[in-house]
Amino acid sequence: MSRFWSAVVHGLTPYVPGEQPKIADLIKLNTNENPYPPSPKAMAAMAAAVNEALRLYPDPNADALKGAIAGFHGLKAAQVFVGNGSDEVLAFVFQGLLKHERPILFPDITYSFYPVYCGLYGVAFTKVPLDPAFRIRVADYAQPNGGVILPNPNAPTGCLLPLADIETLLRANAGSVVVVDEAYIDFGGESAAALVDRYPNLLVVQTLSKSRSLAGMRVGYALGHPELIEGLERIKNSFNSYPLDRVAQAGATAAMEDREYFDRTRGAVIASRERLAAQLATLGFEVLPSAANFVFARHPGHDAAQLAAALRERKIIVRHFKSARIEQFLRITIGTDEQCGALVTALRDILKG
Ligand SMILES: *Cc1c(COP(=O)(O)O)cnc(C)c1O
Repeated sequence: MSRFWSAVVHGLTPYVPGEQPKIADLIKLNTNENPYPPSPKAMAAMAAAVNEALRLYPDPNADALKGAIAGFHGLKAAQVFVGNGSDEVLAFVFQGLLKHERPILFPDITYSFYPVYCGLYGVAFTKVPLDPAFRIRVADYAQPNGGVILPNPNAPTGCLLPLADIETLLRANAGSVVVVDEAYIDFGGESAAALVDRYPNLLVVQTLSKSRSLAGMRVGYALGHPELIEGLERIKNSFNSYPLDRVAQAGATAAMEDREYFDRTRGAVIASRERLAAQLATLGFEVLPSAANFVFARHPGHDAAQLAAALRERKIIVRHFKSARIEQFLRITIGTDEQCGALVTALRDILKG
């Protein structure tokens, strides 16, 4: 606490990201990073971008990147907004598209950054409970609201809503913006990007942090009607004209264009997830059906916090949330098969003792 803080700062409850430990030879399965490196083409593009041109500001509109993203999704560049990680894109969305008189709606169990943005921007919200199986019931969102935001697949559950349900949500909320945060969609779902041309109230948010292995470069984007995009551009250009540096723009553009590598690595993660889910079930875990690059699991006979601590002693870190309804779950990022194997071996050992 400092007397120099503004009243805004006094009132904030900041988001706490998963730990980025400085310890070597750790198996890090706590923040949903991709176990595979970025596309070799993206790495070459980034290396090539480290040159004398760094003297100059980057393209403030990131036109090449917007073109590559639009091309990937079969949309127009005017339907694309890019930002410094999807967290920044989401921050602009809360301030620019979700701050209205009525409270916005999001699930009671979801990405814990949403209430933080609400606190930062003074956005009122109502939490909508997931059903007992931790699924989103879209019918519960047919109520007056200032906007709707949900991750699909949801975080940290990994549960996927079919596209038909997203469409139901869009129709029931034609008077407000519906934001679908698709950070994990590439690991098992169908993107709502295909609906952007038909629903002017839809904003799809994606990131290159997970399925394109570029968490370290901080690149995210939104897809929507040009009027929604313009709203975000107005915020961005009132905040930071150059949120994406030259290296990030070059790497992200090449990553979006390298479809072959993208399909190969996400396929590998999906296959490892299916194997890990089956092995965890064999150990007695209840594993929620996941369409993401993590699984959410609980063991009926073992406390989740103790399991996480025991794994940590064995140099494996997973994520545990001390939140209502999910305090007995562990969220485990899908690593390589070797890392998943080490996790299963460690758990077998811990459960025996
Ligand atoms: C990881 C994640 C993000 C943030 O991604 P960045 O692009 O790295 O900022 C956004 N939403 C959800 C649900 C996530 O899990």
